[in-house]
Amino acid sequence: MDTLSTAVQSDGEDVAPDAAAPVLTDITDDLRSMADFDDHENVYHVEDAASGLNAFIALHDSTLGPSLGGCRMWPFATEEEAITDVLRLSRGMSYKAALSGVECGGGKSVIIGDSKTDKSEALFRAFGRAVDSFGGRYYSGEDVGVTMQDMDWAGQETNYVFGTDDRGGDPVPTTAYGVQVGIKAAARHRLGSEDLSGLTIAVQGLGHVGNELCALLRRDGASLVVSDMDPDAVLRAVLAYGAMPVEPDEIYGVEADVFAPCALGAVINDDTLPRLKCAIVAGSANNQLAQARHGEALQQNRILYAPDYVINAGGLIAFSLWLTPEGYSQERGDALTARIGGTLATIFKRADKENAPTNSVADRIAVELIRQGG
Ligand code: NAD
Repeated sequence: MDTLSTAVQSDGEDVAPDAAAPVLTDITDDLRSMADFDDHENVYHVEDAASGLNAFIALHDSTLGPSLGGCRMWPFATEEEAITDVLRLSRGMSYKAALSGVECGGGKSVIIGDSKTDKSEALFRAFGRAVDSFGGRYYSGEDVGVTMQDMDWAGQETNYVFGTDDRGGDPVPTTAYGVQVGIKAAARHRLGSEDLSGLTIAVQGLGHVGNELCALLRRDGASLVVSDMDPDAVLRAVLAYGAMPVEPDEIYGVEADVFAPCALGAVINDDTLPRLKCAIVAGSANNQLAQARHGEALQQNRILYAPDYVINAGGLIAFSLWLTPEGYSQERGDALTARIGGTLATIFKRADKENAPTNSVADRIAVELIRQGG
């Protein structure tokens, strides 16, 4: 596919925009003082007046390969909120790739908007043109609020997206499988056995991953307690998996062996931490800890935390295989995803040995792996 003439503005320098192209403004230097900046290579503001696209694309680190990371659509209240989210998510993608052993770096994009009311083909095609302008330095895909249909639209403008009908398909089953493997590894470490039958697992969020995870855990014999903002999703889980429903705010206080956050980030925070009555926190959501210090608080409360970017790496692993000479196969995707269990076991053991929180152990290993790859 030809690279489209997307206009790129650098540091306020005006470049005449092509009428059909979104405008990308490099805002990297404006963000350097932000706590979450963390040495990002580049961050762009993406705007397309015709379709209403208002997005940010963050490229964190490309030492190990091209930046790979999905696109989230969310009604952020402010652009600052969107920038904080994209920075934290893209750094997580770099660490996720490093610990998964795949040859990719980290990046991410967020579109400001309501995924139920603000979507259009024009918007995602404009997003696709923005992704295409990086010429393969950044690959995007689905995340919260973005579906295969949306990536199909973006994919009409670029080859650098995954999760389209003909490229990668749906990452959700591999992500959910990786979380199942990770929960078993955490159960083995904290409870002495990876047998989930008879365990109670509280799943927060019954979207794509949460619902699929419930099916896998139910098959393993776990009893499920579930919550979602969407009452229909809750009802489906009650009927399909015999799950016990609780109100969204009650999920934190459920007496459970495992709390599996599968909705949004920052759910482990000053407010929720004192309410937790679980032995393990292990779920698919990105950025589960509101701040790194909440990992330390979990450790002090003897709650084993499976670092989010390690346990939820299945989708990234599957997508990354499209960039290898052998290409993607479900067999290779599942085999690599199964290794999440061993990676977590290593992190848990090292955290015990060093009496350190699992999130900081994982961060240190990731930084080291990226450094060695440079
Ligand atoms: P999704 O949008 O399909 O599902 C999210 C669900 O959470 C929705 O049903 C929503 O109603 C619910 N929710 C939102 N706020 C809630 C709250 N306060 N309490 C209870 N439920 C709430 O998203 P998804 O694809 O299932 O992803 C879930 C999480 O996993 C996200 O954090 C995502 O970044 C992460 N993740 C997803 C993948 C993937 O392959 N889709 C890969 C890695 C990480």
